[in-house]
Order: sequence, then C-alpha cells, then structure tokens
Amino acid sequence: CGIVGYVGPTLDGKALDVVMEGLARLEYRGYDSAGVALVTDEGIETEKRAGKLENLRVALDLRPLDDSRTAIGHTRWATHGGPTDGNAHPHRGGENDKLALIHNGIIENFHSLKRELLAQGWTFLSETDTEVAAKLVGREFDRTGDLTQAMLAAVQRLEGAFTLLAVHADQPGVVVGARRNSPLVVGLGEGENFLGSDVAAFIGYTRHALELGQDQIVTITPDGYDVIGFDGAPAEGTHYEVTWDA
Ligand code: GLU
Repeated sequence: CGIVGYVGPTLDGKALDVVMEGLARLEYRGYDSAGVALVTDEGIETEKRAGKLENLRVALDLRPLDDSRTAIGHTRWATHGGPTDGNAHPHRGGENDKLALIHNGIIENFHSLKRELLAQGWTFLSETDTEVAAKLVGREFDRTGDLTQAMLAAVQRLEGAFTLLAVHADQPGVVVGARRNSPLVVGLGEGENFLGSDVAAFIGYTRHALELGQDQIVTITPDGYDVIGFDGAPAEGTHYEVTWDA
C-alpha cells in the first residue's frame, strides 16, 4: 500500500537507504509484504518478502547489494494472489527480465491481458494482477527502447486503479511513474528526485512536491522531471510546499 522511488547523482549512492526509509515512513498505511528493486552496474537486483519490513531488512542483510543511484520500493496489501514472497512486488518483465515494476491498486482487465501475454509466450511467476503490467511495460520497452514510451503504451491498455513505478536495466538513471485513480507525488530535490504514493515517503529529504493529476506519467532523472498525459501530450502537475512536520 505504499510506493517509493529515488534517483540520485552517484553510482555508489544511497538509493536503497532512501527507499527503505521511505517504506518505513509509509508503514502506517498497513501492508502484508515489502520489496525493493535496485539498478546497479550488474543490472537490476530485487529482494522481496512477505511479512513485516523487518523480514526484508533481514534478507538484505544476508545478501548485501551494492547500493546505487536508482531504486524503487513497495509495500503490498494483497488483492490478487496471497501474501507470499513470490507475489510480493517488484515483478519483472521484458527480455531477460530487464524491467522491474511495482504497483498499488487493482488492474481490472488483467485476465484478458494475461491470456494475450501467455499466448505470446511470456511466463508468469505470480498470481498477481500486477505482473501483467510488468510484462506489458517490459514488452513495450523491447519494442520502443524507451521506458516512458513503454509506460505510455502499456497504460493505454490498463483498466482500473493504479500507481505504477518502473525501472529498466538499460536506462539506469531513470524512474518512470504513472497514475490513475491512485495517488502519486514527486519530491523535487537538488540533483536527486523522489516519487511517493504520499509525501511521507520523502519528507526527510525535500519539501518541494509536485502532485500528479489523473492519468499522468512522470519520468524522473537526477536533474529533472517530465510529465505527460496518457494521451502522450505534455502535462503539468500541481506544485506545493509540504508545511507539516514529519
Ligand atoms: N493488486 C496488487 C496485488 O495484489 C497490488 C496491491 C497493492 O495495492 O499493494 O499485488
């Protein structure tokens, strides 16, 4: 039920720390599983566990990952598929599973999309509605070579409520987010940028926030951000300053 994304300036950066801290700040929303994806020089590494954030921390202690400048993190409230390690997010997609994606919400038309993707030879590892979105964005990346364009093509096929964040091994300094009927806020830093389902995710780092409107896609890099609508046209969110204390 919580989402965090981060891109920072340095390859040996603090992305994992930022995302784990963000997930802890979102714990109050309730969840049954948690997971992270980190974009490193070796590609994308993920770790995910059913249960408390502590289970994920223990797993990360046992398998320390090189920290990086790009990460996404998720807390799950299961709707489709039980609260297991395998159903926890991130889910993977595309050629060689080079894409990782997290999702809050419900994709209503996932049955028909899953049939289409299975017929094309994609293999599913979970019972979630989310994995359909991961396979779809991954497939579109393989076609377009661009994560924003891949997200745009994918969301045009999705029905329901979703906040989605995706990272791809071939675009290591980029996180792309999309939202429909589910919240997504950008946190604007100096040489680093954040995404959160709620400003609590990044309040320890910046108070400059940009709330996305309905049916919008945002692409963040360390130096900037860009917003488009689900129709592909340039769009703008709403800027505000977070004034409350975290
Ligand atoms: N529907 C997705 C799932 O069951 C996402 C649930 C959520 O919002 O955390 O995995």
